[in-house]
Parts: sequence; structure tokens; C-alpha cells
Amino acid sequence: MSFTKSIACLLGVALAGNAFWAQPSWSENAPSPASARTGFDILVLGARGGVQDGNLSAYMISPHGDHRAILCDAGTVVNGLNEADHLGKLTDFSKSNQTELTPAGYVLHHVIQGYLISHAHLDHIAGLAISAPDDTPKPLYALQSTLDDLSQYVFNWHIWPNFSDHGNAPFLKTYTYQPLIPTHSQPLQNTAMNVTAWPLSHGPVTSTAFLIKSGSDALLYLGDTGPDPVEKTHKLQTLWRAVASDVQKHQLKAIIMEASYDNSRPDNVLFGHLTPHWVLKSLHDLAQETGDATSLQGLTVVISHIKYTLNTGAKIQETIKRQLDTENDLGVNFVIAEQGLRLHVH
Ligand SMILES: [Zn+2]
Ligand SMILES: [Zn+2]
Repeated sequence: MSFTKSIACLLGVALAGNAFWAQPSWSENAPSPASARTGFDILVLGARGGVQDGNLSAYMISPHGDHRAILCDAGTVVNGLNEADHLGKLTDFSKSNQTELTPAGYVLHHVIQGYLISHAHLDHIAGLAISAPDDTPKPLYALQSTLDDLSQYVFNWHIWPNFSDHGNAPFLKTYTYQPLIPTHSQPLQNTAMNVTAWPLSHGPVTSTAFLIKSGSDALLYLGDTGPDPVEKTHKLQTLWRAVASDVQKHQLKAIIMEASYDNSRPDNVLFGHLTPHWVLKSLHDLAQETGDATSLQGLTVVISHIKYTLNTGAKIQETIKRQLDTENDLGVNFVIAEQGLRLHVH
């Protein structure tokens, strides 16, 4: 084994926590020449699934090196950008910032080109609503049911002014509602990406999975979802069937999906969420759809939406990571989302 490979081997084991070699499919801020201009950059603006205001689901996605991004969910926006700036993760954009805007303001106005909203629960839209008065006009993509919820319950002049172009007049038109038709690919305006939506079952609410493509590269973002057997649906199975060919061809560069609770949470109180056990069970279903038990080896799976806890004791993120790694016989690279984390997946 060469020196480079032994280092990669050590890295692979350390990162994946697996007993076998798995080449990490991501790096932090440092693209190798071979992978330049391929894959996606992910910047986590908000990582948690509740309780901790200022750190709620929001994932900025762009083709690698391309500064035209989309924000998947918007639980936290400006606070997430400021935190990323404090961690030095916005320096890429500073060269282009010839404005009087702060780094966070520049990214909000000139980098984020639109929003993909999985569902209208507060932990996915609070940052959007709060930043709206200082946001620039943008398309807001979602299933019609989510747009209806935003229109009826949020941007209705009672809870918040109507920053959209539908619902209760007058319309401030900061956001143009763009309904997504499930399974139909649609371009994301002013970016080099397109999106296809699939409905997900999230208790009584319809949530959404977004398959984002740039050329042949794909990234899959799942909003909140319960497991098929608990939700008594086949929505995840349908999604896995649809993305199986992208996995087989190694075009799927990452999955962002939730594990809200650890494995001690009983199924009857999941409220439309997943645990590490259900994440693995579900990823096994995906592997099965590809017809190859090894097809997920090395795939980056970013774990989102861990519920923040006010209790002392072991960090919930560490418990969830350990539980994921213990059951990980697929060779997946699990990465726990943290605010300000920036990844290049390729
Ligand atoms: Zn949520
Ligand atoms: Zn939710």
C-alpha cells in the first residue's frame, strides 16, 4: 500500500468509522484538481431540527465553484450566514463583494438565487420570514400544498406582511411562488441547476424531497420525513426507485436527510421523523433498488434536523453518529450537519 493510500485509508476509517476502507467522497474547502468543477458545495446555515432558534434547517447548495446557489429550507438565514462568516467560510465571496453589504448581506442578495421549501413548519421557514424585509426578489419553489400553507398562514398580513405574489392583497412580491409538479424536472432560475420534487410523508403534513441536478451530477435533499412502515406509505420507496439509476452511475454525490431522534425513541412518538435505525433501514431499501448491495459505498450522507436538547449529558449528535456508524454495513460516509460546515461533495 502506498503512503498516500495508507493516509487515505486512515482518513477513510476515521471519517466513516467503518472497519473497511471507504474513500471519503467529500473534502472541506479543498477541491483536488481532478474533481475541480464537479460535484456540489454545501454550506450549512442551520443544522438543528428545533428548539435552538438561530440554528434551524437551511442548506446552501451550488455546483462546485459556482457562486449561484439555492437554499434548501430556510429555518435560519442571516444568523447562519453570520456564523459561517465568523468561521471564515464566506471568504470565497469577498472578492466579488464590491458593495457596502456585509459578507452575510452580499451572500443573501447576490449568491442565494432562490429557495426550495420542503414544508411550511416554522423550523424550515422562520429565517425566510424574518429576513424577507431586507431580501432581494427571488423565486420560492415548493409543492402547491406548501405554497398554500405559506400563503394562508404566514404571508397573510396577520402573521407577517405578504412578501409573496399570491394570497391576501396587497402583494409585496419579494417572493414569486413557483409551484413544483412532483417528478417533473424544472430549472432553478439564475443557476446552473434544475430540481425535481417528490412528496414525503411527515405525519399529517406533506413534506418534500428535492433532487437537484447540475449536468450529470445530482444531490438529494430530504425535508422532514417519517419511515414508510410507520407512516404507512410508500413515498420513500418511490423516491429511492426514482434515484436508483443516479446512484448506480455514481452521479448522486450526496444525500442530506434527517435523523431527528436517537434510537431510544419509540416508533409511536416519531411524529413523522427518522432515527439512525430508520435511516439505515431506509438506505438499505435504496441499495436494494439499485440491485447492488455495495452501491452506496463511499456515498456522503449528511444528517440533518437532529433535535437540539436542553438536557445535560452526552451530546445528542455524538449519540446519533455512534448509532449510525454501529449499524453502517453499507459503507456510507455519515457526516453530522453543524452550522457553518462547508463541504465539497464529488
Ligand atoms: Zn422540521
Ligand atoms: Zn416538520
